[in-house]
Amino acid sequence: MLYYRVLHNPDIKGVLITMRDTTRQKEAEEKAFFYEYFDPLTKLPNKESFLVRTKAYISIAKNRGKEFGVMALGLDNFKTINDMYGTHEGDEVLKQVGQRLTSSLRGDDVVARYRSDKFLVLFADIKSSDNIQELIEKAKNAFNQPFRLKLGQEVSLSASMGIAFFPNDGNDAGTLLQKAESALYTAKTAGKKNYRLFDAKLNKALLNRQKLEKELEAAIKEERFEPYFQPKVDYTGHIIGAEALVRWRLSSGRIRQPSAFIEIAESSGYMDAISDLMLKKTCSYIASWSWQGLADIPVSLNLSPKQFSNNNVIENLIELIKMYEIDPRRLEFEITESSIMSHEKDSIEKLFKFKEFGVSVAIDDFGTGYSSFSKLKDYPVDTLKIDRSFVSPLPNDKKASVIASAIIDLAHTLSFNVVAEGVETMEQMKFLDTIFCDQFQGYLFSKPVPEYQFCSMLAKGLPLLKSGILPE
Ligand code: C2E
Ligand code: CA
Ligand code: CA
Repeated sequence: MLYYRVLHNPDIKGVLITMRDTTRQKEAEEKAFFYEYFDPLTKLPNKESFLVRTKAYISIAKNRGKEFGVMALGLDNFKTINDMYGTHEGDEVLKQVGQRLTSSLRGDDVVARYRSDKFLVLFADIKSSDNIQELIEKAKNAFNQPFRLKLGQEVSLSASMGIAFFPNDGNDAGTLLQKAESALYTAKTAGKKNYRLFDAKLNKALLNRQKLEKELEAAIKEERFEPYFQPKVDYTGHIIGAEALVRWRLSSGRIRQPSAFIEIAESSGYMDAISDLMLKKTCSYIASWSWQGLADIPVSLNLSPKQFSNNNVIENLIELIKMYEIDPRRLEFEITESSIMSHEKDSIEKLFKFKEFGVSVAIDDFGTGYSSFSKLKDYPVDTLKIDRSFVSPLPNDKKASVIASAIIDLAHTLSFNVVAEGVETMEQMKFLDTIFCDQFQGYLFSKPVPEYQFCSMLAKGLPLLKSGILPE
């Protein structure tokens, strides 16, 4: 009855019709808006929408005096997918690329699709254009895993990238986009998986880095990394241990020092492979010294903070050591205090695993971090290495002398062994001996040397002090 009355009441009927029309109109408007500003396939913002957002972001960045980056990203081998599997599967891949890019970036970054296989990213609020590598890594992460097609096959994809920065490369959205695209074009012409910056100076630094990354990759395959050994001596100058320090032997025979590559190897994920090589080669040298009847000295290897914080690092290292059949007591790992402190509870557990297995642990560069002396007693370590910055000013600098002496006293109270790093003069050595330092390492005795030289030092068995024994 009510229904009848409502339907036949001309006023209400009119209202209903208008409501229905308004809803339809609204829907149509929403649809139009969607198609104007979004890509129907990936549901990502399209180029127009990206430009609007970039424009809005420019005013925010201007107010806050911030930089930000605009990246144009192009898929390298997308056409092959369309050709081989059909556009239906190609569309599926594009959707997945959009999803992966969105999830590998931060919430306030904007991802858009602007042409068939081209995407745009606005990297909001970067600290400075020096963080380029981080931006690139984030975008690259989206392509680490293969893409699964609807038919079940998996395909691998890579991308090239071009980046422009606000305000350096442009003050308006259109210019930034155009410059990012132009950088992408340059990247594409150089081959796959490349990236370029619009700014020539920044681009040069990036190109150098890219070159070094490629060289690193090849050098790892060719096992071009090797340990040099620097002796650790006792107060008589006799070798009682060694530190293995990585060197990169170029095909020309020239040696590249760690300062030229460790940082980049770390940030591009090559450090684990380098460490595995270091461990492998060091273990085989240790075994060969034993066959030759040379002294059974312990050898230490460095573990970078990032490696130490990796989840499976300890298990992996222990597996490798077992594989090389080396007595674990002949190995030691040097770790900085800051790597222990960053995830303290986890780190202590890891250190206990090392101890259980039989390898020792030394705290490297001691005194340079935010050391908390009270924490030291909880760390299951065997050795403290006093950083070179405390050793260099000895013995004349009063403050440095007091600090060195306090560190040694404390370490001995906790039953740690103490090694002084960077001992360069006889005076430093003498002073360190008077304050009961246990071991010494530095150019006074020897620089890090290749294995054959270290081997001959071991074979001679002579003290490494010019005068032989430390003068009374
Ligand atoms: P570190 O662990 O503190 O190693 C000591 C550095 O001081 C070495 O530099 C060594 O050659 C240098 N040194 C030793 N005695 C003296 C001295 O009397 N005077 C001066 N001026 N320097 C001395 P190197 O070999 O260039 O290594 C630099 C850093 O690279 C190392 O510092 C370590 O942090 C890192 N590193 C080296 N090899 C490896 C490695 O295999 N893995 C990892 N993760 N890091 C490594
Ligand atoms: Ca070290
Ligand atoms: Ca050190």
